Amino acid sequence: MKRLEFLKQEVETLKTESRFIQPHVLHTAQDAVCNIDGKEVINLTSNNYLCLTTHPKVKAAAVKATEDWGIGTAAVRTIIGTTTMHEELERKLAGFKGTQAALVIQSGFTSNTATCQSLMTSPEDVLISDELNHASIIDGGRLAKAKKKIYRHSDMKHLFEILNDPEVRKARRKMLVTDGVFSMDGDIANLPDIVELCEKNDVIIMVDDAHASGVIGEQGRGTVAHFNLKGKVDIQIGTLSKAFATIGGYVAGTSALKEYMQSVARPFLFSSAHPPSVIATCLAGLDVLYNEPQLLKKLWDNTKFFKEELKKAGFDTGRSETPITPVMVGDTKKAKDLSAMLFEEGVFALAIGFPTVAPGKERLRTIVTAGHEIKDLEKAAAAFKKCGKALGII
Ligand SMILES: *Cc1c(COP(=O)(O)O)cnc(C)c1O
Repeated sequence: MKRLEFLKQEVETLKTESRFIQPHVLHTAQDAVCNIDGKEVINLTSNNYLCLTTHPKVKAAAVKATEDWGIGTAAVRTIIGTTTMHEELERKLAGFKGTQAALVIQSGFTSNTATCQSLMTSPEDVLISDELNHASIIDGGRLAKAKKKIYRHSDMKHLFEILNDPEVRKARRKMLVTDGVFSMDGDIANLPDIVELCEKNDVIIMVDDAHASGVIGEQGRGTVAHFNLKGKVDIQIGTLSKAFATIGGYVAGTSALKEYMQSVARPFLFSSAHPPSVIATCLAGLDVLYNEPQLLKKLWDNTKFFKEELKKAGFDTGRSETPITPVMVGDTKKAKDLSAMLFEEGVFALAIGFPTVAPGKERLRTIVTAGHEIKDLEKAAAAFKKCGKALGII
């Protein structure tokens, strides 16, 4: 394929810029301890917060749904892809988020693009976004016709200035969008101040709780529950691919939001429905979340334990307040070396560099789950200490 020859050079460029990615491969199920690239390791890299990937009740629900409903619906939701189970899940997700309604969309990514694109439809609209928001929100902004205003991360003074910009003041529609929990740093958005500022300025609030749902707030309901702001946030985005450990996303808000989006949101209209097994998995995951509160407690006990061990060892864990704990390194090569040395010690923690984080903010990003035992975390922390010392990071 001669016309694709240029890609070889592009790949070489990615390699020289340390941006080339080759996925690591699971040889066993995604679990707290599993086989990655042929080696058994303590896995600190998934978003499997509640360890639902291998939960017996959730697995059984997927099998039963396949027996009862077949493997898929072979249609988009609006043609004939919606089953009574899809409707049940949407009712229950609305209950989970404390909203009138919810709409399930293919993924968290497309839930964000769909919402930004569907609501921000004119150059007279303004979309206001935190600089550290997820890539899917950035792409949502690109698809939206609105003007974009980006504020410095969680900087309320900067947000105040933007809200008072004459161009923003005279906008037709204004919408602020923020991650609830920031995916690389594990800090929580300052929702109480955001709500106050947006209420004063008549701004729609959209919170992406991908890393908050099933993780923070009462029964893992997310940042709105965490800050006791029920009824104050217009749109809540969630994903079913992190704590819920399967695939999918949803938009929760008013009934009119759902009715509007299911008629105009392009990913919803033009990409097929989730298979029954996936929907059943999400329903079972919600049951587990409500009926096995010990999982959430163990997630947070493990989080506290591991963070303290890393801090005691002298690592900088940034501003994290959640199970996402970055281990700051500040250098691409050193971060990669630390990750490689840890792997040799039986610990899997991936290095994150530019462009995912800013230059100088290179790190290892760790996430503990409810599936880890204290002995796993002790072993992982000891390995971090040994390798961190060898590389002069601590
Ligand atoms: C992971 C993530 C998404 C994407 O969710 P998927 O369901 O994997 O598509 C969206 N927003 C944030 C903040 C995320 O961390």
